[in-house]
Amino acid sequence: MSRSYHIWTLGCQMNEADSQRLASELEKIGYHAAEDADSADVLVVNTCVVRQSAEDKAYGRLYRLRMLKEREPDRVIGLMGCLVGVKDPLRLRKQLPFVDVFMSPSEPMPMVDFLRERGLFDNLAITGEATDRAYRDALQDDAHGIILPERERGNLVSAYVPVVYGCSHACSFCIIPFQRGIERSRPVGEIVAEVRSLARQGIKEITFLGQIVDRYGRDVPDGPDLADLLRVVHDAGVAEGIERFRFLTSHPNWMNDKLLDTVADLPHVMPQIEVPAQAGNDEVLLRMKRGYTNAQYRALIARIRERVPNVAIHCDIIVGFCGETEAQFQDTYNLLADLKLDKVHLAKYSPRPHTLSNRTMPDDVPEAEKERRRIAIDDLQATVCAEINGQWLGHTVEVLVEENQGGKWRGRTPQNKIVFFEDEAQDRKGQVVAVEVTWTGPWSMQARLPGRVALPQPSDLISIAG
Ligand code: SAH
Repeated sequence: MSRSYHIWTLGCQMNEADSQRLASELEKIGYHAAEDADSADVLVVNTCVVRQSAEDKAYGRLYRLRMLKEREPDRVIGLMGCLVGVKDPLRLRKQLPFVDVFMSPSEPMPMVDFLRERGLFDNLAITGEATDRAYRDALQDDAHGIILPERERGNLVSAYVPVVYGCSHACSFCIIPFQRGIERSRPVGEIVAEVRSLARQGIKEITFLGQIVDRYGRDVPDGPDLADLLRVVHDAGVAEGIERFRFLTSHPNWMNDKLLDTVADLPHVMPQIEVPAQAGNDEVLLRMKRGYTNAQYRALIARIRERVPNVAIHCDIIVGFCGETEAQFQDTYNLLADLKLDKVHLAKYSPRPHTLSNRTMPDDVPEAEKERRRIAIDDLQATVCAEINGQWLGHTVEVLVEENQGGKWRGRTPQNKIVFFEDEAQDRKGQVVAVEVTWTGPWSMQARLPGRVALPQPSDLISIAG
């Protein structure tokens, strides 16, 4: 009987990508995704420690698994991700003796080795005899191919592909470099192989990931940069049926014109730039060790908008950083009020071990005040996003459809705006469909197929998947 696994993923998109790779490695040795999490033979928690709240969630899940392991010692328990870190993956062994396997971020192989050493794998899967066509196709010409779980093959529309692991930027608040190690870019060939294998399993949209993705390639002397990578992967991916590429997260200081012009130039790279400001006050930015000023960030946004038509700009903000005064917070608020960005990922400052801010600066903004500042920006963004989305009313947008939700097709525009529309006649999943926006709110839009009563014209169907 085939063995099963279940992975709980906490935290960022990079963790989602890492879990996908662990799943793929398990599929390659004959495991399948469990129908019901509690029944899985292998249970893994992929963890995040970027803020205390994320770390608390990881421990909550782990202690539930400890009880399960005490009752049923044959279950294999894995702990992956930033709680494990890269430096000393076995550091938590004493504290968490019920965990069988510790995996550093983006390192699924310890689990595979553990299962193989104990004979807990399927011989036929490893020799390829027991595998189906999708599996063989995915691995066709490269061992770097990703195997999606069976129920996701031909069903999942979007996937993440990490292009640079780790981070070498020492922002004073951030634990990520300590847990994920220094920056390591992946070779172009490996990335292309992953994109191909995902395309062959039905994926239509790929988002490239890096902690600072616009630093891709800078750790390799004379290596290709992100713009070069995009050009190569664009053509290779489109030939296999990929409709859309995105990338995140960028750091303001590495966003050069070559990259922006490449985004503007390549038709399947979407006009979306994620470029965190973190704060809008120069003193706070200096204490955060971000490496730019309010004026420089504003100039960057102007440059992005000038070079990439119809671009959507996303941003991360931390409120309540050490020593942030009301006036300094107002600078952040005013920055966002002026720039009107498409999306703001908001976080309240959370002191983290190892970091410079935690070692040298008091966490002196009270929790209630952090929350007040968070809500103030949340409210501002609701107004900004309603205004931005309102500009699309009556326009035709191209939506890549991801799923059917409550009888409506849900997809996203090139700018990553969520759109719902109705079409009982056809299965639209995975297709790029041109629809006319009929209603807009701050977080989503409603649309309809143009000329509902007439038969669809070929021009209505921008591109048919497959
Ligand atoms: N590489 C990106 C950041 C990725 S980390 C950059 O250059 O900015 C994801 C987000 O988590 C960060 O953008 C930041 O907003 C948030 N974050 C990181 N450390 C944090 C902390 N100590 N407290 C609160 N939020 C934090």
